[in-house]
Amino acid sequence: MSVRVRYAPSPTGSPHVGNVRTALYCHLFARRHGGTHILRIEDTDRARLVPGCEEEIVESIQWLGIEWQEGPDKGGPHAPYRQSERSEAGVYRQHVERLIELGHAYPAFDTPEELEEMRLSQQLNRQPIGYFGGLWREAGPDQAAAAKKEGRPYVIRLRMPRDKTLVCHDAIRGRIEFDSNTVDDPVLVKADGMPTYHCAAMIDDHLMGITHVFRGEEWIGSVAKHVWLFEALGWEPPVWVHVPVILGKDGKKLSKRHGDTRCLDYRAAGYCPEALANFVALIGWAPGGDVELMSMQEMCAAFDIDGLQPSPGVFDPEKLNWMNGQYIRQLSEERLAEAVQTYLSLPDTADYWLREEYAGRPTGEALLLLSNTLRTQPELAQQALALEQPRVVTLADFGEACAFFFQEEPPMDEAAVQKWFGQSHVPELLNSLVDWLFPFAESPNSGPAAEECEAFLRAWAQDHGFEKLGPIVHPTRVALTGKTVGPGLFELMAVLGPARMIQRARRAREFLW
Ligand code: GLU
Repeated sequence: MSVRVRYAPSPTGSPHVGNVRTALYCHLFARRHGGTHILRIEDTDRARLVPGCEEEIVESIQWLGIEWQEGPDKGGPHAPYRQSERSEAGVYRQHVERLIELGHAYPAFDTPEELEEMRLSQQLNRQPIGYFGGLWREAGPDQAAAAKKEGRPYVIRLRMPRDKTLVCHDAIRGRIEFDSNTVDDPVLVKADGMPTYHCAAMIDDHLMGITHVFRGEEWIGSVAKHVWLFEALGWEPPVWVHVPVILGKDGKKLSKRHGDTRCLDYRAAGYCPEALANFVALIGWAPGGDVELMSMQEMCAAFDIDGLQPSPGVFDPEKLNWMNGQYIRQLSEERLAEAVQTYLSLPDTADYWLREEYAGRPTGEALLLLSNTLRTQPELAQQALALEQPRVVTLADFGEACAFFFQEEPPMDEAAVQKWFGQSHVPELLNSLVDWLFPFAESPNSGPAAEECEAFLRAWAQDHGFEKLGPIVHPTRVALTGKTVGPGLFELMAVLGPARMIQRARRAREFLW
């Protein structure tokens, strides 16, 4: 039997890292087994729909490199793939009617007030909360027919069996048993005629031939209902794979307080999709061995349910940062420029750095400068990117890291000026530098190479009795970049070129005292 899995999001909010991890596991599992991955949109809860959310789901998983073969955008043998459309097409009706005929489901006409009263009384009497045996569970067909005739609104509920052990075979946790007496009767069809998750997802999983259901472990609380629904309809249940929750490093469920959780915010913050996919896959999945950096292809080849952990996965932002840096460093010069260009051209990027929480951070402005330079002086920009490539964590970091290359007058770090410009040899050093650079500046296209810059500064040190290069290198760096940290000095000098260096060395003299 060929593997069929589905990612079944509800378009009720922006997809976060936990959601996309489920989609990623489905993709990996399908690829590993030569199976099919289906995207199914579970949009029957009309009140909670968020406009644009389905598009965001598709964009998020596409960005991460997750593939699917059937879905609303692709069609397939089980179309339509949006549950609202399936409901309209009458896909669920016959199965719900069959359940009613078999005595496994029934209409319930309780008013919201009656349900609230039931809840209160259960609370007061310390009884389990839920619909365990209201009036309508026991009502006969005549009573229901009369209520229908009166036009009273109603829902359809699943009649949970009594005194039965319901068993879920979870691929990660093994056998999980439930006493059916502890499970209340869930609503299958709401008063507006829309099926609930319990109804639509189970019927679809069956009709679409889903072999393995990957979903969040929060569904374990409902799985007894799902097991029973399959049994009541005489259907073979799928293999359930309840993937563990993701916790922050503080042991609390991952939420906004841990920073970004929305998938596309990671893109806007400058993370590479390969890094995020790799990182997210390993929260809760141990591929065995010490391997951490894995391409999508390697993950597809290695993915196995046996490697999924039942214990919660921990989201460690430092690990993500490390991985992202590694991915950036693996890029060739061309791919790096492409990745940065793509990043800068996304409207999300600017929106992200304009957010209130980043007000005062120079990142947005620096990214704009980088973007302009990539357009007007692509060679300079690419050389600057290549020099910063070993040091950045995210694509966004390139903005501030590269800014000094492009700024007309890079700001001078006060402390650096204090520390290095007070030394008596610095004015002469800067004068010599300018003198040395002049001939280069006069013949365009022939700036000094990194080795020549190094040779010049070493010779200057020797001629002036310096044993170490530090007192030469540091003030030169501050003069040319305004900072004490950055890429190798000789390399950055070669990229800056003679004209810029002359201008900056002259400007630095204004800071001398
Ligand atoms: N629509 C459900 C949700 O978004 C999906 C659960 C499932 O995968 O079955 O939570």
